[in-house]
Amino acid sequence: MMEQCIFCQIVEGKIPSKKVYEDEHVLAFHDISPVAPTHVLVIPKRHIASLMEIAPEDHVLLGKIFSAIQTVSRELGLAEKGFRVVNNIGEDGGQTVHHIHFHVIGGRTLTWPPG
Ligand code: IMP
Repeated sequence: MMEQCIFCQIVEGKIPSKKVYEDEHVLAFHDISPVAPTHVLVIPKRHIASLMEIAPEDHVLLGKIFSAIQTVSRELGLAEKGFRVVNNIGEDGGQTVHHIHFHVIGGRTLTWPPG
């Protein structure tokens, strides 16, 4: 647990969130500033700053995160029409919260390329 990390504080329940999925290792909750009708963040409960900090021993955890993304997308009705999974990394990638998170975005037709 990183003292100042906002997502660690969400994991700890110190900051409220609208949870949509939780297991021992993974948490998913609605983004506070949604960019689409459905915008959920899927995170590991353990603090990992970004994809660049993923170690070989975290590969099972990454699999659990993607299983959670499947579950969430089905439960929120995104699976049939499709949706997008986004992971921003670092400054140029637009990462503002330095606890790895996967955006699950859907509920409308998404455009490409991103800005
Ligand atoms: P990033 O820009 O990829 O790092 O995404 C960070 C995301 O976290 C943004 O979409 C924010 O809207 C979202 N966010 C920041 N603080 C909170 C919060 O307290 N609850 C839920 N989402 C948050």
